[in-house]
Amino acid sequence: MDLAAKLISGDRRALARAITLVESQRTDHRAQALDLLDRLRGENREALRIGLSGTPGVGKSTFIEAFGTHLTEQGLKVAVLAIDPSSTRSGGSILGDKTRMEQLARNPNAFIRPSPSNTQLGGVARRTREAVALCEAAGFDVVLIETVGVGQSETMVAEMSDIFTLLLAPAGGDELQGVKRGIMEMADLILVNKSDGDLKAAATRTCADYAGALRLLRKRAQDPDGFPKAMQVSALTLDGLTAAWQAMSDLATWRKAEGHWQANRAAQAEHWFREAVRHGLMARLDASTEAQSAMAQEVQSVSAGTTSPDAAAKRVLDALK
Ligand code: GDP
Repeated sequence: MDLAAKLISGDRRALARAITLVESQRTDHRAQALDLLDRLRGENREALRIGLSGTPGVGKSTFIEAFGTHLTEQGLKVAVLAIDPSSTRSGGSILGDKTRMEQLARNPNAFIRPSPSNTQLGGVARRTREAVALCEAAGFDVVLIETVGVGQSETMVAEMSDIFTLLLAPAGGDELQGVKRGIMEMADLILVNKSDGDLKAAATRTCADYAGALRLLRKRAQDPDGFPKAMQVSALTLDGLTAAWQAMSDLATWRKAEGHWQANRAAQAEHWFREAVRHGLMARLDASTEAQSAMAQEVQSVSAGTTSPDAAAKRVLDALK
């Protein structure tokens, strides 16, 4: 059996190998990866893609372990992918830490893949989207895409998810401080984790504050009544996990019935297509010796003030074959 057939049969090792292939920078691997993805598209398998973001310490790995296990107990197959912006800088990945999600990692109905290191964020986005497609073709029902709540990675994850979830911890004082408005606007579901023991009262307050803040946001066409929603969960006691899954399923069902699901995926495909063209152009610019030498020349005249930036840019781009 070849790689595609093995992957379609649900072979996790084949899936891991296919992801390694899409992560590779080698030109021949790239061609093989695109071939493979093309073949798999025909399978038309679709998973629920859930984006999950939260700052370090809010309990992402504990939550994913608990939530992922909860889903597999209902007969669902769950894949976990991660985008870790720190790994793109340092080459070391927090999300790739082997000690995380040990129980889920051993679960035959789960698949966990840490963020690749030493890749640019743009490259990570492509790799993660392709990995999502591979997980779908391998028959996973739910793909969780995890990221830490810093920088661009959240927008990136939201752009490749059907449902975007924000995981928060109970806070004292000025609760809404930590979350930027733009992130709130992307969220379909806010889960206030650690709603247990001594933290329960604070979690209840935090959840009410966020529910209030969500009500103040402009209503989006892709939301049924009651969404976006803030809920309390505990990854430790497992309280609220059933309700969180119910909310996600309800939202997915409604969006599918109303056509928002398909429209969202189409808009995402268009976004990534434009991104790919942009990235490709940049790569070509970097690789072209003509453009590079035009660049080196023009930069001199631009800084000397003898030519305008736009005229110089045009000459560089004209040198690009
Ligand atoms: P991450 O950095 O977001 O992946 O967070 P971790 O999953 O590593 O959790 C950070 C800390 O919070 C750990 O000490 C966990 O045991 C604790 N934690 C995670 N979930 C819960 C929860 O639901 N309740 C309580 N009380 N602690 C939790």
